[in-house]
Amino acid sequence: MAATRPGPPRAPKPFGYVPLATGPLDRATRRLQGHERYAPGRLTGHLEGVIEALTPVHVGAGRLERAARVVPTHEGTPALVHAHLRVAGVPVLPGSVLKGAVRGAVEALTDSCLGVRGRLTVLAGTQAELEPCPRRNRARDELYCLACRLFGALGYEARLRFLDARWEGTTQVHRAPMLPPARLVRPGAPPGRRFYQHGAPAEGPVPLEVCPAGARFPLRIDFVNLEPAELGVLLVALGQGEPAFCLKLGGYKPVCLGSVRMDIRAVVLDDPRQRALGYEPAAAGSAPPDTAYVAAALEQRLVDRARLERLAELLRYPREGTCPAGPY
Ligand SMILES: [Zn+2]
Repeated sequence: MAATRPGPPRAPKPFGYVPLATGPLDRATRRLQGHERYAPGRLTGHLEGVIEALTPVHVGAGRLERAARVVPTHEGTPALVHAHLRVAGVPVLPGSVLKGAVRGAVEALTDSCLGVRGRLTVLAGTQAELEPCPRRNRARDELYCLACRLFGALGYEARLRFLDARWEGTTQVHRAPMLPPARLVRPGAPPGRRFYQHGAPAEGPVPLEVCPAGARFPLRIDFVNLEPAELGVLLVALGQGEPAFCLKLGGYKPVCLGSVRMDIRAVVLDDPRQRALGYEPAAAGSAPPDTAYVAAALEQRLVDRARLERLAELLRYPREGTCPAGPY
């Protein structure tokens, strides 16, 4: 039944879906290598790179501030803004925001569980395999999917650690449209994972403190005991694979805020054995990301090629058009 809605016609939706994994997930205890001990042949170290804001980025601190106090260059109205998150007085993209965005991409690209979902989203019977980890088998061993093995789950510490990325410049005020109220989820199986697309930011009445387009943040991700293919999965999810794409971070994604480009400059590999046995730190080996990591992720089919192409199509940058300033 198509009910007619009052008000202006709705704009096209600013998002699309990546299909969910089908079939059994690879939840295997034999591959469970945690952070707790040195594992020869695994990779430990960190990624270094730069996050560049392509549109303004807003990570809300959850409070209003006087605009003149947090944005010294700001004059006149509005007097109040929704403040950007700061740590020790410096605006940051917190590690939790970075980790969440990258985990979302990893979950979409790999055969992983649906760890976070709306309260009303109900999985169909055929999708029971996507229920969140940990799963226990008869021997009471925990079973974790690839995303949980990388990003952690109840009872299993992550092997990736995302540091806060600091913005040393000044913030600005951006007036964004009001976001439409969240609607109840329609009954039935979820059509996939939702990703908001890029575009020109829409304008409206809501004053936000943002890190402006062009802002650059140093990025660092620590990793422990990864297989080369697992590091490849991380690099693909950061948009470093082929086809490349740009992620979105923070709030107001539907109105085109939060588009960022990740540029991974170096993989710094550490030698934990050497470090544990000597008084002097071992020289860490730093090199640009080796394409062999990404190739291994694709060869071992940890990354689903079709879903990678779909995600890259949704997160293509630049993209024509402006995000909707009204209902969609
Ligand atoms: Zn999982």
